[in-house]
Amino acid sequence: MAKEENLECSFCGRKKSETDLLIAGMDAHICDKCIEQAHGIVEEEIAESKSGNLSKELILKKPLEIKEFLDQYIIGQDETKKAMSVAVYNHYKRLLQTKNDDNDVEIEKSNIVLVGETGTGKTLVARTIAKMLNVPFSIVDATVLTQAGYVGEDVESILSRLLQAADYDVVKAERGIVFIDEIDKIARKGDNPSITRDVSGEGVQQALLKLLEGAVVNVAPKGGRKHPEQKFIEVNTKDILFIAGGAFSGIEKIISKRLNMQAVGFSASLSEDKIDEDNLLQYIIPSDLKSFGLIPEIIGRLPVLSHMNPLDATTLRAILTEPKNSIIKQYTKLFAMDEVEFSVKNEALSYIVDKAVEYKLGARGLRSLCEAILTDAMFELPSSNDKEFIVTQDYAESKLTKTTLKKLRAAS
Ligand code: ADP
Repeated sequence: MAKEENLECSFCGRKKSETDLLIAGMDAHICDKCIEQAHGIVEEEIAESKSGNLSKELILKKPLEIKEFLDQYIIGQDETKKAMSVAVYNHYKRLLQTKNDDNDVEIEKSNIVLVGETGTGKTLVARTIAKMLNVPFSIVDATVLTQAGYVGEDVESILSRLLQAADYDVVKAERGIVFIDEIDKIARKGDNPSITRDVSGEGVQQALLKLLEGAVVNVAPKGGRKHPEQKFIEVNTKDILFIAGGAFSGIEKIISKRLNMQAVGFSASLSEDKIDEDNLLQYIIPSDLKSFGLIPEIIGRLPVLSHMNPLDATTLRAILTEPKNSIIKQYTKLFAMDEVEFSVKNEALSYIVDKAVEYKLGARGLRSLCEAILTDAMFELPSSNDKEFIVTQDYAESKLTKTTLKKLRAAS
């Protein structure tokens, strides 16, 4: 047997005297340095296989297929669906290729900003994309965010939620999608920074910028059971896709002013294209967001800009019945569970849509209207012997009193 002082590490050959610790195995030894190195290799391998698995989990389709998937759930909004399909495709293509990419053309992130009235489907588009890709998704309301040090939520809390959605799997979270709602509410008031006294919005924008650009952020896990001992988890935002949404109410004036000025400047070419005054959002360009009060750096980090069209009666009607999980399909399923065959007459559908338009309830109001009409039936039918339930216009009218409608409007 070798003498104690002649022992050496079987991996690197260091003598026992050159190591801090030499551990004996069956017929080999390993020193502290080799253990450290081996540990590093193990960690790296685990992380790599995890991200490899994730690439398999991530379901990336071609833009056309992404759009087709969105079509199943979202009525209209074709331009946005197209822009989103391309942006999302490029974003995840970039992400799947970074590992073995040896040329130095760096593809930038395709964060997105959606401008459109509330209830036009901004959140729905973002959520549906995340569902299709099978990646974690979280929604954050920009209005609750504050600059570090102020009362409210720090911008980092955005990532706490994403971590939560990823069940505290950091690698997964780092490929997730965050929807930042009401981004317009952190705009600074007035275009000129020197005359504004409202710096809070701008402070939040600056804080957000860091996340959008890609940074390693210390995130408080907030109730994570998997890492109870950990105070912070490091999350790299480089591959997180951010989709911002906002109503930007009043931005039409900015767009209209710009269009009119252009029309004066280049009267011949522009005045020929008639401007659709009812839907000015379709002409939106990044500089309008700047005039509204987003800082140029934020706009630069949200390179894909798209708009949502207002929902007219035809669209509302389609929303009621056509999407894969449309409201009517959901009720049909609920009633079918009690073996009741449920149907709604066309005239009743039109009536519901008319009320949604009349009381300005939007797409969200469609559900509340249906609830108001169907609650009694959902209460009574499961205990009755009726096997069929047809909603006629008369029935719908009898359930929707003026008071109910006013209540719905007040709540919307
Ligand atoms: P926003 O984020 O723009 O305020 P949401 O995405 O939350 O609006 O939309 C509210 C609800 O209205 C959705 O959950 C969905 O049921 C319905 N909805 C709105 N727009 C559409 C649409 N284009 N297609 C299908 N459903 C829609």
